[in-house]
Amino acid sequence: MLVNNLGYPRIGTQRELKKACENYWSEKINHTELMHTARNLCKKHWLIQAEAGVDLIPCNDFSFYDQMLDMSMLLGVIPDRFTPVLTDVKGNKETDLYFAMARGYQKHGLDITALEMTKWFDTNYHYLVPEFKAKQEFRLFSQKVFEEFNGARETLQKTPKPVLIGPVTYLLLGKEKEKGFNRLDLLPRLLPVYAEILSKLADYGAEWVQIDEPILVQNLNDAEKAAIQSAFDFLKKNCPQLKILVCTYFEGLRDNAALALNLPVSALHIDLVRAPGQLDDLLNMAPAHLYLSLGLIDGRNIWKNNYHNSLQQLHKAISKLGKQRIMIAPSCSLLHCPMDLDFEVSLDTEIKQWLAFAKQKLTELDELRRIEEGATELLRQNEVAIQARSHSGKIHKAVVKERAASIKDTDAQRAHSFNIRQKEQKKTFRLPLYPTTTIGSFPQTGEVRQWRARLKKGALQPHDYEQLIKKEIEKAVRIQEELGLDVLVHGEFERNDMVEYFGEQLEGFAFTHNGWVQSYGSRCVKPPVIYGDVYRAQDMTVSWTQYAQSLTTRPLKGMLTGPVTILQWSFVRDDQPRSQTAYQIALAIRDEVIALEKAGIRIIQIDEPAIREGLPLRQEDRNDYLHWAVRAFRIAVCGVKDETQIHTHMCYAEFNDIIEHIAALDADVITIETSRSQMELLEAFAAFQYPNEIGPGVYDIHAPRIPSVEEMVLLLQKATTLLPRQNIWVNPDCGLKTRGWEETIAAL
Ligand code: GLN
Ligand code: ZN
Repeated sequence: MLVNNLGYPRIGTQRELKKACENYWSEKINHTELMHTARNLCKKHWLIQAEAGVDLIPCNDFSFYDQMLDMSMLLGVIPDRFTPVLTDVKGNKETDLYFAMARGYQKHGLDITALEMTKWFDTNYHYLVPEFKAKQEFRLFSQKVFEEFNGARETLQKTPKPVLIGPVTYLLLGKEKEKGFNRLDLLPRLLPVYAEILSKLADYGAEWVQIDEPILVQNLNDAEKAAIQSAFDFLKKNCPQLKILVCTYFEGLRDNAALALNLPVSALHIDLVRAPGQLDDLLNMAPAHLYLSLGLIDGRNIWKNNYHNSLQQLHKAISKLGKQRIMIAPSCSLLHCPMDLDFEVSLDTEIKQWLAFAKQKLTELDELRRIEEGATELLRQNEVAIQARSHSGKIHKAVVKERAASIKDTDAQRAHSFNIRQKEQKKTFRLPLYPTTTIGSFPQTGEVRQWRARLKKGALQPHDYEQLIKKEIEKAVRIQEELGLDVLVHGEFERNDMVEYFGEQLEGFAFTHNGWVQSYGSRCVKPPVIYGDVYRAQDMTVSWTQYAQSLTTRPLKGMLTGPVTILQWSFVRDDQPRSQTAYQIALAIRDEVIALEKAGIRIIQIDEPAIREGLPLRQEDRNDYLHWAVRAFRIAVCGVKDETQIHTHMCYAEFNDIIEHIAALDADVITIETSRSQMELLEAFAAFQYPNEIGPGVYDIHAPRIPSVEEMVLLLQKATTLLPRQNIWVNPDCGLKTRGWEETIAAL
């Protein structure tokens, strides 16, 4: 029985890779120093895996920025606009071209936009989207995979397993940049390059190669299925000497099971964390030669594995296939986990015992194998830990569970329909036609961030901190009044992050000290851990908001983060359905909404920017998710009077395909990001005859650029052709926390 790892986090326990890349970009270190850091990290990570007893240690899972971008470099998929970079750079051409594709290139009069970036399946990891033209050529371009293979072999003194994204997933995740062709048509031109890469790896001595085809867990049409079949037929024919492991993750195979199992390859990896129920069928259908790699350890979450459950799966598989044909593995690459729990020195010791980060997950694989070989003491220890967690008084709060269990339909319903509420609200607020507002945050200057840091360290007394923040709020309120905005905000200066801020004040959340996970490029996030029943023990935003309202006679909008976004950007407990946790958070937010209303706040915004990214990968699962996600939002907001106006805000995504569910949120006003797409998004709202009020963004806050009056007017005119005038608000695309004051004031 082999232990198979699919990928290891690359940023380093101290985020060394992030720092090295950023220093290289700002020319504080040179190319040699950058490569030195990268090689050391790779070596360290390979040795950790070897020490943990991993048999199939991945290489080429390292990346300076993103593994899809690495594939584009490997396959020579470099859009023409980047050609000038090669003659412009003075340093290492390949590295600088690579970073130019990731980040754009603005130097020496050149201004080249980066590749588009988007979310990797349903994760918060972002990849760079390959761009294809009709006459796209492919050629072996970057040598990175071979260098890493040789480096790993030298370090380990045994043969590593190179990892590649499969040809069909690679094509399907890319985009046609010209009309008149389908990117799948490029497959016959692409496959010879894959074959060349595999042959070269075989020449270097590779035995196993991991080819990731996660697209196999999604709904595929006949052409896509045929493409997968023909791709692996081709690779088998041209590189018969290599053992190919096809890797699937993030969902079950469902109707693609027969296709995946019968590919002419040596092994198939399946995700048994997301889709434990698929094992029985797959075992019955597996052909006699195939190795099955069982994804038993959760690569997407931070909980200790339940060995008892994993062993049940493992035994089933062994009794059908025999030990020789089994591999045990994490469910997916460990890229999506923080690196090492040992660095959590200040985490509550009881909670820490329930967790396993990437390094600990490797130990779990080793222990599973040892238990299988007779080390029953390890199983007993695990049972003790699992029992301790499931019975912990920290997790279970009877009142919270009872309250969530007794939610009624009327709790998710405003007293009256939108038409009636709108009349009440128009009377209450007497806002002009096209009222103006912002999305919540105002510039988080270095100064503001320093106050927070000093408060945390104890270098600033809470009272003094409060005074400073209040001053900043007052400044923001005065500026908004002078600008003549209609609905003001307090500016969110007290918040580090829109999820962390609420997590820190809610019960049931824990925070890691070093639990960084790569989000994109050098950007890492530290998601909170939701370990127990969630409730609100005290007001979270009331005093700041009330203070801000006391400074002005104009309506001031309270600002909260919605239950689905809090869930989506956290590590969520795995001992109850996500919907249950969402409802608990919803009730906590509901209490805050009601408290704000009581405190005299008459407009309240609940942000849900992440509602779209939680959408399941399979079409057939989506309605269920949308049902509870919408319900959670409505539970959060429906405790208020008709005349209290509920806003929501969404950004980062296209919402066209879930428009009816956005309407079902029944927020009185929705503000959305639309300016970059020239209001394209609004067409979906118009076609659907979206009934409630909308603020389409007219100011792209992602760049320091100040939009002209004319272009904003033009965007609004377009909006008025699509939507009833009395429903339109005027606002920026998103919060302004990353902008400077000067440009913000000018744009507003
Ligand atoms: N209210 C938040 C802000 O203004 C919204 C952020 C977001 O949509 N991502 O920063
Ligand atoms: Zn936003």
